[in-house]
Amino acid sequence: MDSTTLSDLKRIYEQKRRKAFQDAEIRKKEIYNKLPRLSEIDAELSKAYLSTAMEILKNSQTSSISNLKKISDTLQKEKTELLKKEGKTLEDLSPIFSCAKCKDTGYIEKNGKTEMCTCLKQEIFNIEYNKSNMGNLEKENFSTFHLDVYSDEINPQKYKSNISPRENMKRIEKIAKNFIAHFDDPEQKNLIFMGNSGLGKTFLSNCIANEILKLGKTVLYQTAPVMLNDIINCLFDKPNCNKNIIENLLSANLLIIDDFGTESVNNMKFTEIFNILNTRLLNQNRKITKTIISTNLNLQNIYSIYDERIASRIVGYYEICKFFGDDIRFQKV
Ligand SMILES: [Zn+2]
Repeated sequence: MDSTTLSDLKRIYEQKRRKAFQDAEIRKKEIYNKLPRLSEIDAELSKAYLSTAMEILKNSQTSSISNLKKISDTLQKEKTELLKKEGKTLEDLSPIFSCAKCKDTGYIEKNGKTEMCTCLKQEIFNIEYNKSNMGNLEKENFSTFHLDVYSDEINPQKYKSNISPRENMKRIEKIAKNFIAHFDDPEQKNLIFMGNSGLGKTFLSNCIANEILKLGKTVLYQTAPVMLNDIINCLFDKPNCNKNIIENLLSANLLIIDDFGTESVNNMKFTEIFNILNTRLLNQNRKITKTIISTNLNLQNIYSIYDERIASRIVGYYEICKFFGDDIRFQKV
């Protein structure tokens, strides 16, 4: 990753964190102005803590601790009740961070080690990989997903199905929502969206991405040609290559590979595609990693273009969603 990206992000986080503390301070002042008794309670509390500490130092006896607990409980209770009357809670006096997990530091402690929080990881993904798609991510979510842009005509000759495109999308929407709800279930299959351009495959992957992001997970979006070029550049150690690309492709909670099948293929790329799909299936580090592939190809195409190992992974571990109907891009208002 570009070191300026990380230092810029760290600065933004520092500002966010400072703002959260300042806002809390302002809120606290307002509440304390309205309820002067709160300041008295705080003073009584610190007095009780201090005198207990002194007592322990002097007489080295701990019996005063239970007394302190009683005083503290009574005062805290009074504080909570006073706040409640104003429709507030103790939380209103504390900073509200955009990420509760890392308190806007970008890092968390896990098993004695410092780790980058998913929120910071996602910021880096957005800058480095998701750029092309981020604008769409904001607009394309389940609240802007409308089934009525799909025809309700049942026409087996035209659509090669005995249900209408709308009914079909309704089923796919259900599959998508189920995928989100069971994301952490290792048994939950990955998704492959098949069908012509203009049927809403990328739109639906963005709807899912939005929901997965809300769960505090990381989402990496790449088109197959860009993804494979980046990997190959990295393997050949080309200048300006993104050293973390492979690690990130393997570890993102959700990887969306768009335009699968539009890349030029060769044996080396087959190996890389297989490695990515297969490693992600194994849920390395017991971490749940799921993949959505979007493609204009059908299963026969996949079997004829890619080697059998890739095709069999897709058939075995992906729920196949076939999109059909008329191009919806011209129907959107
Ligand atoms: Zn965080």
